[in-house]
Amino acid sequence: MSKRLEGKTVVVTGASSGIGKATAVEFARTSPKNLKLILTARRIDTLKQIAEEIKKEVGEGVKVLPVQLDVSKPEQVRNFIPNLPKEFQEIDVLVNNAGLVKGVDKAGDIKEEDIETMMLTNVNGLINMTQACLQVFRKRGESGQGDIINIGSIAGRMGYPGGSIYCATKAAVRTFTEAIRMELIATRIRVMEIDPGQVETEFSVVRFGGDKAKADKVYEGVTPLTPDDIAETVVFAAGRPENVVIADMLVYPNHQG
Ligand code: NDP
Repeated sequence: MSKRLEGKTVVVTGASSGIGKATAVEFARTSPKNLKLILTARRIDTLKQIAEEIKKEVGEGVKVLPVQLDVSKPEQVRNFIPNLPKEFQEIDVLVNNAGLVKGVDKAGDIKEEDIETMMLTNVNGLINMTQACLQVFRKRGESGQGDIINIGSIAGRMGYPGGSIYCATKAAVRTFTEAIRMELIATRIRVMEIDPGQVETEFSVVRFGGDKAKADKVYEGVTPLTPDDIAETVVFAAGRPENVVIADMLVYPNHQG
C-alpha cells in the first residue's frame, strides 16, 4: 500500500472495462484511506455497477463517483471538472486510458468515420483531458502538483499492417507525453506513460466491430497480459515518491517481447 496515494483524488478515463476498470479497482484496493475515485466512460450503467463492486470490496475508505464522459467530445471534457461535486474537483492523478481501435483495414481502405473516431478519442480526447486537469494542477502550490499517466501502446513505437491509424494515434500520444514532460520539468507535475503490449480485454471485440469469435482468435495459442498486469504498473507509478518519475514503461507479455 502506498501512503502517497492516501487522500488523493484520482480520475480514470475508460473505466468501464479492461485496463481502466482494473486500474480503478487496483487504486481502491491499494490505497483505501480517504481515496476519491472518479470513474469515467460512456457506459454509465456499467460504471455504476463497478462503483458498487468497489464499495462492496473496500468499504467506506474510498469514495467512488461514476461520471458519464465521452472524451472525444470537447464540450463534455470542458464541462467535466466544473460539473463535478466540489469535493471531487481537486484532482491529483489523471489516468488517460480511454482508447480504441476500429477496423483492421489497410490505410487506403479505412473508413473516414473510423479514422475520426480513433483520432478524436485516442489523441484529442487525451489532450483535452490533460489540459483540463493541468488547469487544476497548475493552481496547486508554487509550481503546481499532480500526476498525468497516459496509456500508450507498443503500437506507438512501431507500425504494423492493418494498424496504421491506431499506430499513428499512439505515436501522437507518445510524442505529446514526451513534450509535456519536458515542459513541466522542475515543477511538481509528473508526466508518465505506460505502453502495454497485448492485453486481453474488450479491445479486440471493439476492433472487430463486436465479432467475438474473431476477437478470441487474436489470443489463440498465446498468453496475453491481463488488465491487472497494467493496472498494477499504473498504481505502482502513481505511488512512487514525488522525486521519482516512471517516465516511460513498455510492458509486454512474454511471447511478444
Ligand atoms: P477496452 O475496450 O476493454 O476498454 C476501452 C475503454 O475506453 C472502455 O472503458 C471504453 O468505455 C472507453 N472508451 C472508448 N471510447 C471512449 C470515449 N470516446 N470516451 C470515453 N471512454 C471511451 O480496451 P483496453 O482496456 O484494452 O484499452 C484501454 C487502453 O489501453 C486504450 O487506450 C488502448 O489503446 C490501450 N492498449 C490496449 C492494448 C490491448 O492489447 N488491449 C494494448 C496496448 C494499449 P465506453 O465504451 O463505456 O466509453
